[in-house]
Amino acid sequence: MTGDGTRSVRAGLPDPVAYEPTLPGPVFAAHFHLPGEASGPYTYGRDTNPTWTHLERAIAELESPDESAEAIVFASGMAAVSAVLLSQARSGDTVVLPEDGYQALALIREQLEAYGIEVRTAPTAGDAQLAHLAGAKLLWIETPSNPGLDVCDVRRLARAAHEAGSLVAVDNTLATPLGQRPLGLGADFAVASGTKGLTGHGDLLLGYVVCRAPELAARVRKWRKVVGAIPGPMEAWLAHRSLATLHLRADRQAENALALAQALAGRDEVTHLRYPGLPSDPAHRLASAQMRRFGCVVSFDLPDRAFAERFLEALRLVDDATSFGSVRSTAERRGRWGGDAVGEGFIRFSVGAEDAPDLIADVERALDEAGSACGGFR
Ligand SMILES: *Cc1c(COP(=O)(O)O)cnc(C)c1O
Repeated sequence: MTGDGTRSVRAGLPDPVAYEPTLPGPVFAAHFHLPGEASGPYTYGRDTNPTWTHLERAIAELESPDESAEAIVFASGMAAVSAVLLSQARSGDTVVLPEDGYQALALIREQLEAYGIEVRTAPTAGDAQLAHLAGAKLLWIETPSNPGLDVCDVRRLARAAHEAGSLVAVDNTLATPLGQRPLGLGADFAVASGTKGLTGHGDLLLGYVVCRAPELAARVRKWRKVVGAIPGPMEAWLAHRSLATLHLRADRQAENALALAQALAGRDEVTHLRYPGLPSDPAHRLASAQMRRFGCVVSFDLPDRAFAERFLEALRLVDDATSFGSVRSTAERRGRWGGDAVGEGFIRFSVGAEDAPDLIADVERALDEAGSACGGFR
């Protein structure tokens, strides 16, 4: 098996064809020439597109390098998340979700319940979902959780869920396939938003589902055809182009995130600091057992809302924006959205690929400025 760097730069490339580009350009087509029978690899643009095919092969190689798997790309992460949940669960089924997962899971929950599906929730930390598996059709795991950065044991949860006859899906958005490979840890579905670290430039939306069982993949693929939640060829091509630098970005951003977390650990105004890569983090031991890189998101509390707002305003190298995973650092006061169980001063910080000393200096200066504007911090 090749290394992550080699796999990233070559993932999904077609065999060389003389005088053709390495990665063929985006194919813009609503329909393809289709003489005779209604079959063939490319027929109609809602079902298939050669640009998706290359990207799907690439993502499958990254999520499952040692066993064959099938990827299905979507217009967004939420399109992929809902494709798994809504294509698998039926009225009368039970689904177990994390209590502290991505905030739009609450919207999915409403939809599932409206369809007569029972939804149980439990926190990510402490593998608390284990206690809710009896009779469940599907267990949904998000680790590390967004934005709280708690970690659960995917192998343990997957084993217990399978014993209970339940399917297992893991939202792998935060880790990316270079940080963690859920299928290798026992999950049936690896699902992610490609909008974040996978593509890393903050310029497109994308989602994907990967699974090894052909019958599961077929249901997800059919769901995409039914709802038409397809990525544009340009987005798919840009995403594939971005994969070539995934290992460089993932390494650099994780390195920067650790350096920033270490600097923040020494600041009095920062509390509840979380980064799974930080040796003192409560999730570090478990994260080390299932993750190969710890991601780029650091979270922490500042004393209050005013302090957090001043801090964000004072930053010069970090944009006040939502989302995460971009090569350009972003941070936000997560409480502004409502919906997450976080304090008013809670900051979700997405660490980019800047030079760590520049970034740390900017953050320390912004903390100092926020402190003096708020009457000093003792
Ligand atoms: C952003 C995100 C999603 C949704 O992805 P979109 O591309 O915004 O639709 C799902 N899960 C997690 C963990 C996310 O961070």
